[in-house]
Amino acid sequence: MGMFEGKIGLVMGVANDRSIAWAISQALYGEGAELAFTHLPSPSSERRVRALAEPHGPKVLLPCDVQKDEDLDRVFQACAEAYGRLDFVVHSIAFAPPQELRNPYVQVSRAGWHLAMDISAYSLVAVANRAAPLMTQGGSIITISYYGGEKVIPGYNMMGVCKAALEHSVRYLAWDLGRQNIRVNCISAGPMRTLSAAGISGFDELRDHALKKTPLGRNVEFEELGATALYLLGKMSGGVTGETIHVDCGYSIVGL
Ligand code: NAP
Repeated sequence: MGMFEGKIGLVMGVANDRSIAWAISQALYGEGAELAFTHLPSPSSERRVRALAEPHGPKVLLPCDVQKDEDLDRVFQACAEAYGRLDFVVHSIAFAPPQELRNPYVQVSRAGWHLAMDISAYSLVAVANRAAPLMTQGGSIITISYYGGEKVIPGYNMMGVCKAALEHSVRYLAWDLGRQNIRVNCISAGPMRTLSAAGISGFDELRDHALKKTPLGRNVEFEELGATALYLLGKMSGGVTGETIHVDCGYSIVGL
């Protein structure tokens, strides 16, 4: 019997089969979880997510732009109606306008700053607030960050500031929801070749650098992110909340 047999979760942030959220979904399916999915409200996003999830027959697969409260309300209402509860949520969403990543951080526009923060950091708060009432048997929420939220990684710019806010939101949410036995944690992933990563200038250089610098002498595999998600979403991490776990082959421990 799988570790997640009888468990129900919502996965937000699958764009395609190279998404971190999809790697996590595959690990969860492998352990018997039942999953609901959201996708951006566009026909192409829906087509891509549906093609991946449909073989597993999700009861909920809905459009959701995390900037829209009404979209979020509809998704959690649908989960309540379809399942009656949720055991976990995977939040794997980020966006910044391309020019805000290309330009130095000092030139970031007010509008770009708000947009990136809204989608990449505030959305976790909005999601947690709606998920908590459904987590009637306790629950676990995870999100995905990057080392650029702790240290300056040239080119990561605005997204680094979003990740700093995201990681600290994890701690405040863990505090707020802890007494309901809802845990909130974060995976700080090493650089992965995904659609979002294509928007980070110098991403290939970053991956090459990580390759040389990590104690393990390699970059992270998607399966390793999936395995850490299983740990954080499941019983084995029952005493862990408010943490950011680096799954980066050790990149973040090296100063040189
Ligand atoms: P990805 O496959 O492109 O996933 C990003 C997801 O965010 C996509 O599904 C995208 O939808 C969604 N999204 C963007 N704006 C949204 C909005 N307004 N409402 C709802 N969803 C929205 O890339 P990924 O690399 O797996 O990224 C997942 C998470 O991991 C992000 O938080 C990213 O910052 C983080 N991360 C990535 C890396 C890396 O190297 N790739 C490393 C560390 C952390 P559409 O594709 O349909 O637009």
